Amino acid sequence: MSSDLIALIIVLAFETPEIEHKTQQLDSRCGQKLSEAMSAVLRLTVTKCRASGIVVIFIACLMAVGLSVYFLAGRAYPTANSCSVSPKRPLPAFGAAPKIAQSVIRLPRTLLPRHYDVRLLPILEKGNFTVLGRVVIDLQCVEETDRIVLHSSDIKVDLKSVQVIEQGDMAKKMLSLESIDYETITEFLIIRLNTKHKVKLAKRTNYTLSMDFVGNLTDTSAGFFRSVYVEDGVERYMAVSQMEPTDARRVFPCFDEPNMKAIFTVTIGRHRDMTALSNMPLIDTTPIDGMQDFYWDHFAPTLLMSTYLVAFVVANFTKIEADVGNANWKFNIHVRTSAVSQAQYAKVIGPKTQAFYEDYFQMPFPLPKQDMIAIPSAFVGAMENWGLLTYGESVLLYDADVSSLDDRQTVVELVTHELAHQWFGNLVTMDWWSDLWLKEGFTSYIECLAAEHVDPSLERLEQFVTSSLHTVMRLDALESSHPISVLVNHPDEIGELFDDISYKKGAAITRMLANFIGAKSFRNGLTNYLRIHQYGNAVQDDLWNAFDKQAELDHVFLPTNVKTIMDTWTLKMGFPVVTVQRDYNSQNVTITQKRFLVRKSNSTTADPTVYLWWTPLTYTTDFRTIGSTWLAENQTSKNLTLEIEIRNDEWVIFNVNETGYYRVNYDARNWQLIAKQLMTNHTAISVINRAQIMNDALNLARAGLLNYEIPLNLTKYLEREDEFLPWEATLTALSYLDSMMQRTPGYGLLKNYVLKILSPLYESLGFINRSSDSHLTGKLRRKVVDSCCSMGHKDCITKATDSYHQWMSDPQNTTIVPAMLKRVVVCTAIRHGGEMEWDFAFKRFRDSNVASEKATLLSSLSCTQESWIIARMLEMCLSPTTGFRTQDALDVIKTLAGNPIGRFLTFNFMREKWLEMTKIFSSIHNLAHVFESVTKAFNTDMELKELSDFVGRNKELLVSAMTRSTQQSIDRVRSNLSWMKQNYRHVVNWLQKANTDATFQRST
Ligand SMILES: [Zn+2]
Repeated sequence: MSSDLIALIIVLAFETPEIEHKTQQLDSRCGQKLSEAMSAVLRLTVTKCRASGIVVIFIACLMAVGLSVYFLAGRAYPTANSCSVSPKRPLPAFGAAPKIAQSVIRLPRTLLPRHYDVRLLPILEKGNFTVLGRVVIDLQCVEETDRIVLHSSDIKVDLKSVQVIEQGDMAKKMLSLESIDYETITEFLIIRLNTKHKVKLAKRTNYTLSMDFVGNLTDTSAGFFRSVYVEDGVERYMAVSQMEPTDARRVFPCFDEPNMKAIFTVTIGRHRDMTALSNMPLIDTTPIDGMQDFYWDHFAPTLLMSTYLVAFVVANFTKIEADVGNANWKFNIHVRTSAVSQAQYAKVIGPKTQAFYEDYFQMPFPLPKQDMIAIPSAFVGAMENWGLLTYGESVLLYDADVSSLDDRQTVVELVTHELAHQWFGNLVTMDWWSDLWLKEGFTSYIECLAAEHVDPSLERLEQFVTSSLHTVMRLDALESSHPISVLVNHPDEIGELFDDISYKKGAAITRMLANFIGAKSFRNGLTNYLRIHQYGNAVQDDLWNAFDKQAELDHVFLPTNVKTIMDTWTLKMGFPVVTVQRDYNSQNVTITQKRFLVRKSNSTTADPTVYLWWTPLTYTTDFRTIGSTWLAENQTSKNLTLEIEIRNDEWVIFNVNETGYYRVNYDARNWQLIAKQLMTNHTAISVINRAQIMNDALNLARAGLLNYEIPLNLTKYLEREDEFLPWEATLTALSYLDSMMQRTPGYGLLKNYVLKILSPLYESLGFINRSSDSHLTGKLRRKVVDSCCSMGHKDCITKATDSYHQWMSDPQNTTIVPAMLKRVVVCTAIRHGGEMEWDFAFKRFRDSNVASEKATLLSSLSCTQESWIIARMLEMCLSPTTGFRTQDALDVIKTLAGNPIGRFLTFNFMREKWLEMTKIFSSIHNLAHVFESVTKAFNTDMELKELSDFVGRNKELLVSAMTRSTQQSIDRVRSNLSWMKQNYRHVVNWLQKANTDATFQRST
């Protein structure tokens, strides 16, 4: 802002015609007078800037008209493709009942935003984290109205500054206002025009709405927030935004719905020592008059985009420019100065991934630059803001000396995921949050294709079944699961959608689709969809249409159209178990499908959904020839003559390479034939199907669909298995038995048996990494060592504790404990050690400069068996300043709950401190995680009763806001109880026999 502009502001302030402002006070959140807030802010700022006469003028101007006054000349903006109020098809309801009807919670479509001028000045000083803001919105009226309804939350709008100006060929006309109200529940700011004088906004006319406001940099990761970190012993602050899903309204008043796309011109104020970043490149910097050492950074206007993708950062970071090999876009990484060396991996894979997507989607990246920034605190995960990707440090930074290959895999997963969103989500956006899965599911699959390209050694695609498919099937097998596509309205309901169903099930059904229509049609269908809907919004039917057209062009045989097939997977929850019953005298099989439930409740609540799916079936008898067929949505069973030759002493395996999202059960004889093959030559069955067979069989038994004897007998073959996937799939499924039996007399038998089948591999792999190891071998060793150490393998425990004690005597030496085994080593040493071991790890955790190492150490701290240390840790979770930071506390509670000794202490703690916890872990999402992890292994009547009592006493939050996660937790405990009653004794009997069976001895 130049001094000339100040003069202009004064002139405007005094020459502007009087507007009738019969403003009403906003509710208590917005009631505080803006002038008081601004004075307080500026008192602090002025002190720092050594107040001068100009500052006083600046304050006067600010009070009078806001931070700046400028009117935007009429421009032609691209039009959004879709502005429909509601999704284009009926959707099942989410949770118990939507709290607020769609007609109430959605903005009216009388006005459409075309352009925003957003100007923000965040103050970053201890004790003062105010944000001064001004927004000017160009609106197009599409239906006559007497009010402007937009979103605003947790910000104080200066009511006197609100102006509505009609844009026309003639002079601009300021409209008189009647009132400005704020509705807390809907988060609506409602500006009513003067009805007494019949003032209205006319159809096909453009208006400009402007206002000043004051907000705060919060300490949560919602809206515009502050991240506090220590660098070189000094506490520093940075400001970062996180808008998705509904927090843009916490930063500036806006039309905060994904299909109300607009162009954003952003201006950010900052101190000279800081750098500001936004979605687009910086085009100009001007001094902020009256504020010595402060500047406005002006950014280029964005392309047409949704509010949830707008982003700002103000930080004192180092910029690393990547070598991109093209002239179309720049690619930068921004990190704390002392973390520069950890950004090298991201610097290589970032631009490589972006170039991969340009090729894969056959569309160029449309922005001139891409920034990726690592946020040191108050932010976990990552966000795909268009042109400015934000990451928690632990998921972007990688230090080859102290981070493990798993940490590298995490970086690849997040970078490839967020970059895929630049097209799938940002360029084409879901019409409404009910279709969140559309961007998250597709991206979670496509990211694997990119990962294969940028770092093939990680074998990301191969790991899909264990990392995504098996994980989400566990959740989706509960009666209280939910369909991928659900009707959501309120922000709380939208927040609940960010779960494994949207991401992992979305990815699993996408992978299934890619397999049945073929990679080529899948890719070209996607490109067509992106081309048709670019800069607009879409619903899932638009995507299905694009695939249908492509499949037709490519002559792909489908039994019906893609929409009909995929609707059965997106509109219904759960998935089928396909049962194969062979006729051993012929080629014939009978195939049936029914919903797979880990436990069927006795509830008689009628569910009108018919749980049958369009299920693509594939099968093989030798992994050379593959047959295929479909089960239709109206078919519970069908008789099939196999297309491929099969003898009656040969096995058949369905769901080849587990590309379908379903489980498979067989008749007893086929299970025996599979078991025989596994025991004689397991490599005749593909690695992925070995993982599938083990995971399916153990889960079928858990659900009561298979006698436990069958999967337990199958586990015997594992003595000869040396691949990661089958072990991962088995140990994950066995972990349920582990958690159920941990506090029972039979646990010793389980430990002995698992050690018996694991020992050959432990001996052949060894404890220490080898340079020749592939990524999956490294993962396998870690898995084996982890299981052996936790099951009490003596050699494993000795090696781990020796290694830890060596490290304790030479703390700076990063080579003593290999990064891949750090979690196991530290956990084992703490589990078998005392206060000294715990304190050392805690100190290393506090001192580490590498976020991924911090995370490893943090999770290991919960391995302690000392009740008093657990109690101390729990107390530390509620003291963010002296104990664990809020974001870490959540992980600590979750891991403590997984510790058999910690579980009850944690539950008691949760019961006692629930109120305090709701304040600290303010997000529903976080609380739901705590609640789930603390209660998931409960398996006695007493525990169920205590859980139900607790839920009953805390109905307000648990039942109203966390309906689904509360119900899932109770469901899970009931399921555990019935498992114990039905299976515990049988499993113990089998283990007794297996442990004493002389013929089943390991062969070394
Ligand atoms: Zn995503």
